[in-house]
Amino acid sequence: MDKSLLKKAAIQSLALMIAVITFSYAMKQYQIVTVEAINQSGEEVSGSNMIFSEEDFLTSLTINKTDASEGHLTKVQKLIKGADKNILQKLGDNYLVIKKPQGNDLKLQLEDLYINKSIQLTIAGISEDKLTSDMVSRVRGEDLYTGEPNFTETTSTEVDEDGNSEEVVIKDYGNDISHGITITASQDFTTKLYTDKVLIELDTIYAYIIYEDADYYYIDLKKPSEVYDKILVIDAGHGGKDAGALSKNDTYYEKNINLSILLDLKKLLDKENIKVYYTRTQDDTVYLRPRVELADAVDCDYFISIHCNANVVSYPNGTEILYYDNNFKGVKTQDLAKLFSEEIGKTVALKKRGIIKKNQKDIFIMDKATVPMILIEVGYLTNNNDMNYLNKYENRKNVAQGIYNGIMRAYQELPVKDGQ
Ligand SMILES: [Zn+2]
Repeated sequence: MDKSLLKKAAIQSLALMIAVITFSYAMKQYQIVTVEAINQSGEEVSGSNMIFSEEDFLTSLTINKTDASEGHLTKVQKLIKGADKNILQKLGDNYLVIKKPQGNDLKLQLEDLYINKSIQLTIAGISEDKLTSDMVSRVRGEDLYTGEPNFTETTSTEVDEDGNSEEVVIKDYGNDISHGITITASQDFTTKLYTDKVLIELDTIYAYIIYEDADYYYIDLKKPSEVYDKILVIDAGHGGKDAGALSKNDTYYEKNINLSILLDLKKLLDKENIKVYYTRTQDDTVYLRPRVELADAVDCDYFISIHCNANVVSYPNGTEILYYDNNFKGVKTQDLAKLFSEEIGKTVALKKRGIIKKNQKDIFIMDKATVPMILIEVGYLTNNNDMNYLNKYENRKNVAQGIYNGIMRAYQELPVKDGQ
């Protein structure tokens, strides 16, 4: 069941989820020492810890590639003092440069929070807690930014599927890759060392390649398709405060069944050489817009959404594969739906209701998707037989196996073509 739930809330989802993540992170910390995300606050920052000298200290700077006397890399090197030219040469058009804080044997960990278009860097082993957003630089082509990202605000009127309009504030970050930097630090009482978490909101989803030298971390921002041969987006419908369809007497929630199937599918896909983005892997509230934005941003080969159905009456039962009659990346979505209907039919002992063509405006994520996509309605929670079947773990595992078989066959028989 994929009613147009939570449409309006989806508009503000990104900012809210970032806030929730930041807050829940802070709650988990052993000891919160500082929370800072401001650079123009007049705080004292010693010169040696800054990437830029006082006269260079600008939030935005254009590097002129055509300048004959100084090359692009030389300029970046001059602005980011001591940056390693060999590493800079390896980087693409978009990258981050992060000045290492003081400390011996620093450890960097990058967590890809792709559903929020963010990364979280964890830097452990810091001896002096001086990391600020001034130490995070972004290079996009000829533009270089450092410190807290600046934006201009405009309002726009957004109309949802029911025709309701709403004023939406749009923040324009210009060419800046980052749309927000939040730094949280915690200290270990025993070692006295700090661990800093640097949450960097980005303009889109990238694949990340990390380099480092004595002074900096360099994070090359690539298109996922430049790094991975095969890319999937798998979506467990609903989640968190959105339960989805309910069984009779409201005993079972669709969101939990979808997630259970997804987690078994994940076990199978973990063994494959496929980059898989999951819209959620736990009971999170994820709005519809970020789900489809993920699929489009990573330009996945196939976008597969897992759902269960419900009806006001109890007799409808069985598995349906929903699709829009379109063609992306050389894949006719109808063919993809047929293939999955066959494969799931082989492993799942529920009635085969076949493929069902939906029309524009029926399904929000299908309206917005620009990649081959299907939505699987595994069974009807309002039907006793289907519900009993889906309530058994072994059966949900069979569903996962059927989806997995469908994916493998799709790569063989319906391969995507780039640039279509
Ligand atoms: Zn659903």
